[in-house]
Amino acid sequence: MTEPSHPPLSPRVVARDGHCISRKDISPNALRVLYRLSEGGFDAFLVGGAVRDLLIGGHPKDFDVATSATPEQVRAIFRNCRLIGRRFRLAHVVYGREVIEVATFRANTDDGSGDRETADDGRLSRDNVYGTIEDDAIRRDFTANALYYAIDDFSVRDYVGGFDDVQARVLRLIGDPEQRYREDPVRMLRAARLAAKLDFSIDPAAAEPIPRLAPLLSGAAPARLFDECLKLFLSGHGEKSFLLLEQLGLFDVLFPETSHALATNRSGALRATLVKALQNTDARIASDKPVTPAFLFAAMLWPAYCREMAVLGKQGVSESLAPQRAADRVTLHQAARIALPRRFSLPMQEIWLLQPRFGQRQRKRVFRLLAHPRFRAAFDFLELRLTGAPEIAADVEFWREAQTQSPEQLAEHLPTGPDGRVATTTEDSADAPRRRRRRRRPSGSATATTAVGVTE
Ligand code: ATP
Ligand code: MG
Repeated sequence: MTEPSHPPLSPRVVARDGHCISRKDISPNALRVLYRLSEGGFDAFLVGGAVRDLLIGGHPKDFDVATSATPEQVRAIFRNCRLIGRRFRLAHVVYGREVIEVATFRANTDDGSGDRETADDGRLSRDNVYGTIEDDAIRRDFTANALYYAIDDFSVRDYVGGFDDVQARVLRLIGDPEQRYREDPVRMLRAARLAAKLDFSIDPAAAEPIPRLAPLLSGAAPARLFDECLKLFLSGHGEKSFLLLEQLGLFDVLFPETSHALATNRSGALRATLVKALQNTDARIASDKPVTPAFLFAAMLWPAYCREMAVLGKQGVSESLAPQRAADRVTLHQAARIALPRRFSLPMQEIWLLQPRFGQRQRKRVFRLLAHPRFRAAFDFLELRLTGAPEIAADVEFWREAQTQSPEQLAEHLPTGPDGRVATTTEDSADAPRRRRRRRRPSGSATATTAVGVTE
């Protein structure tokens, strides 16, 4: 333990009768950890998002604990404990599926993400990363996230004015906003995310530097940005997150090619489709339905894909090669910013590449597409595209019906010959060469790109 880097701050102590946090709203496992640490002679507090959420009557999704005990001392108390992290070690106390994260009071402002090794100058060593509770409070990002619920007297301790800020529902950065964003640019995303999630406003002083400093985000670790994206868009407040990111100039840095495609799409169809995707995702989460990063990213990057298709079209790349090439380019370029794991990028590409096949009606092809393992996701995506491409309404109707019919019923209405293509909305990479040998493409048929209004 080192000397504090500043004189101790005296906290505002909000006694039990001055706040609404009740032990019955705290996970019994978190309470167990707090009591055991306290009985062991250590200071132990519930901290961070959980205290904030409880104060506004929410249900925290996880409970973090801050303590004066070192990780080794924590491990000595709990058998069900594992230590993680290298420079800053954290203790995870494991109860079945629930993990209570126990962090020793921390002295520095580094978030431990491993992004900013150069900023550390090698000055931080294992000896001086731990500190006092005051140090721990001021290294946090927003005042609302720096409140401590004490297990010994059930009070809330506030070193930075967070209690009033939570009541006023405002996100205020601790310290100088610009400096805090420079230390860790991901805090800008956290501002947008927490404002969207909690329905808090962002204090003007914290909002002002964001558009200016947004480009710093491009230096953040792509894997960390992927995690942040899941929290931004797959936690039930995706639409609001998107609107805030756009307003603050952050969306452009996270998804540069999508942002460019949206800006150049005069009809606004691509943006409408993206917003619809986020609304649908929020609705699914609200009704406890599963959501997948593959579908989310298919929607987020669809504008970029459509634009790339248009570019390749202008360059004269054949319709058989363009879809896969566009998909690969968009995936590769995006990976420089956000590390989308292959287990998600492959199904994302499949969703795109299946789109043209919804224009086919030849019996064999219809059955093949219905049996495709990615059919359902691709069909949901087709339905989504209807928002920006009313011309695919007949396709959506046909495939919606097709799923309700028996194979015999369905087969009855379908042509078996090579001309079984009814409404062509897109071209397909795998089938295109064969098809072209047999017949000429009907003139005036739209490509995937025009179907969403990119080239107009
Ligand atoms: P959520 O409810 O979405 O989990 P949270 O505020 O709990 O929000 P976490 O990522 O779980 O977010 O972080 C826990 C706490 O750690 C935060 O409340 C904050 O005090 C601190 N923290 C997290 N990220 C940072 C950061 N980049 N800089 C400073 N402090 C941070
Ligand atoms: Mg949390």
